[in-house]
Parts: sequence; C-alpha cells; structure tokens
Amino acid sequence: MSDTSAKGLHPRTRAVHHGTRRSQYGEMAEAIFLTQGFVYDSAEQAEARFQKSGPDEFIYARYGNPTSRMFEDRIAALEGTEDAFATASGMAAVNGALFSLCSPGDHIVAARALFGSCLYVLELLTKFGVEVSYVDGTDLDQWQAAIRPGTKAVFFETMSNPTLEVIDMKAVADLAHAAGALVVADNVFTTPVFSRAAELGADIVVYSATKHIDGGGRALAGVICGTRDFIRGTAEPYLKHTGGAISPFHAWIMLNGLVTMDLRVRAQADSAAAIASALQGHPGLEKVIYPGLPDHPQHALTMAQMGSGGTMIAFEVAGGKDAAFRMQDRLEIINISNNLGDAKTIITHPATTTHQRLSEENRAHLGITPGLLRLSVGLEDAQDLINDLRQALDS
Ligand SMILES: *Cc1c(COP(=O)(O)O)cnc(C)c1O
Repeated sequence: MSDTSAKGLHPRTRAVHHGTRRSQYGEMAEAIFLTQGFVYDSAEQAEARFQKSGPDEFIYARYGNPTSRMFEDRIAALEGTEDAFATASGMAAVNGALFSLCSPGDHIVAARALFGSCLYVLELLTKFGVEVSYVDGTDLDQWQAAIRPGTKAVFFETMSNPTLEVIDMKAVADLAHAAGALVVADNVFTTPVFSRAAELGADIVVYSATKHIDGGGRALAGVICGTRDFIRGTAEPYLKHTGGAISPFHAWIMLNGLVTMDLRVRAQADSAAAIASALQGHPGLEKVIYPGLPDHPQHALTMAQMGSGGTMIAFEVAGGKDAAFRMQDRLEIINISNNLGDAKTIITHPATTTHQRLSEENRAHLGITPGLLRLSVGLEDAQDLINDLRQALDS
C-alpha cells in the first residue's frame, strides 16, 4: 500500500511519503500499530501465513509490524537498496548483519578505527571461528594485501569515530568485489543524507538510527539495508529468532525522524563547516579535524563521496586532558554527553569516555590523544555555538 514510487523522486520527497501504509480509516499521519500480534480470520489463514506471509501480512512484532515496515520501506527507498530490516539498536544491526552473514572458518577484513562495540562484535565472531584481519582503513594497499580469494566480507565505518577518517568506499568495494567479498558499511557518521554507499558499492549498509535519524536523542534503534535476498533470506531469520527487532513505537519515532532529517542534517553540516572554519588557527588548539576543511587528508574524497564535510568535528586542545576538561566545563550552551546526531550540540572527550576501554597504545595509534574533543553539531544558531566555544577556549 505504499503510495509513492521511489523512482524519479528526490530523497526529500521519498522521506516524507515513501513506505506509508494506511489502514481502512485513511489516517493522514503514519499510525503506530502498537500490537505484538495479529488476528487471523481462520485456522487455515493462520496456517497459511506461517507457511508464507505476503508483503502486507504480519504474524508477530518480533518478525515484523506495519509501523516497523513503514520505517524499513522508507529508509530503503532513501538508501537505494531493495529492502531493510529495522532493529532494536545500532548494535543489533551491526551484530545482525555480521553474525547472520558469517560461518566458522570465514574471513573478514575490517578497518581498525571502529566504535568500541563494533570491535566487541568482531571479537565475538573470532571466538566462534571467524578470522578477522584489521587494516588502516585509509590505506588501500593494506586493504589489497588483507583481502584474499574467499574473504567473506569487509567492514568499516565510512567516516571513523572520533578522528573522522574517511574511507574510499568505491575503491575498497572494487577490491572486495574482485575477491568475491561483500561490503558492509557502518554509515552513521556519514548520515543517510550524505550517503551514497549503495551506489558506491556497499552491499549492506547499517545505521544506528539513534543518531541522526531520530535526531533528538530520544530512542535507540538501528537498521540494516541491503538486497531483498540478504534482508529477508539471511538477516531477518537471524534477527527474528534472536530478538533484535525494533519496537513499533521506536519505528514510529524514526519514521517521523526521516521526514525532517534532510533539513536537520544539512543545517547541522552548514553549522559544522562554519564552526570548523572559525576554530581553525585558534591559539588554544593544536588542530581542527573536519573533512570539509581543505587541509583534511581526505578532503577531496569526502567532497566527491558525500558532497559535505558532515555534522561532526574533532579538535585537539593544547595542554592535554586537563585543558580539554577545563574547556568542556566552561561551556554554557554545549552539553557534555556521548550521543551524536542530536538537535543539541554535544561535546565528548573520547579518551576518557567512548574510547576509554582501548589501551593507551591503541588510542595513540588511532589519534585519540588526551587533548582530543569530539563535537556533534546540533541545530542551535551557529554563531552562538562559535561564541560558546571561543569563550571556553579564551578564558
Ligand atoms: C552509536 C554507534 C553505533 C551503535 O548504535 P546504538 O544505536 O547505540 O546501538 C554503531 N556504530 C557507530 C559508528 C555509532 O556511532
């Protein structure tokens, strides 16, 4: 009953209309089907549905639900993939994509700069007999050397957390596909607005919807996008039996998040670009890392791949941890927290929070220095944010 074809329409139009399913009441806004089960007209119908359910037939919310399906159809239309499966969190999506794909003896190549929980999932896979090789994601020679015939998949965060390294998706996908490997991209930092992951060769795209898709830091959710074969044939059986499905209420939050996501994320990226330029050269900073700045090592690639530097900035305060803490404590508008993609601007000290579990050596290797701060730019006025950051650095 989706009333808009993805074909020929721009992403903003798809994000408003695509995937909408209306009940017999013809409600304008998307309904929340807060129901775990569905009633059958007859025992024969129940039997038939368990054998094979049609696109608009549901059995149990752990398997699927009309509100969840609206969110799945809408994000798949935006991402340009055939289908999607919505999950309880971003980590359920990463776990679901990788575990449903792999068997003991398989080989995965992963970029080293990953979110801590993604590293944990890879370690679990190793425990179950999957071999994982780690590479520096920005070094194509390392990808080439590590990928071998029979490699099952490559895995990376398109833009890494927190140092904002950008992966050349097309080049890595070409290397992977030449060896018969699938490309699994965690696209959170890139956002669905600036992502062309499927077009550039990603076979499977995973998101933490908790971030830019919600956009208000309200609810946990995730989604896996891919071919219909992979989503319904591989990911869905794993997730529906292991319990990773999204709550219909959270699916409704995310469905509505998608409606305004394009406007929000573009405004946040515009502010991030203005803030990064304003901070550059400040005497209290050792460096400013923003892929939209010309001095970023992957600036040209970022602009070609995303058309924007994104909504995240990292910067290194001169004076190490003490100076970074003092600066955070002096901020008046910007909140100290660890989410990202929120309407409220958030500052994070990765070395003592999100990446505190890594060894000091590993942190140093990834560029997570004691003075490094990560900024997720929100929807406040950019000049107010610049003033807040300046007063915290100046005093
Ligand atoms: C937050 C995040 C996740 C995990 O998402 P949750 O919704 O918190 O489970 C995975 N990957 C990246 C890059 C993230 O930033």
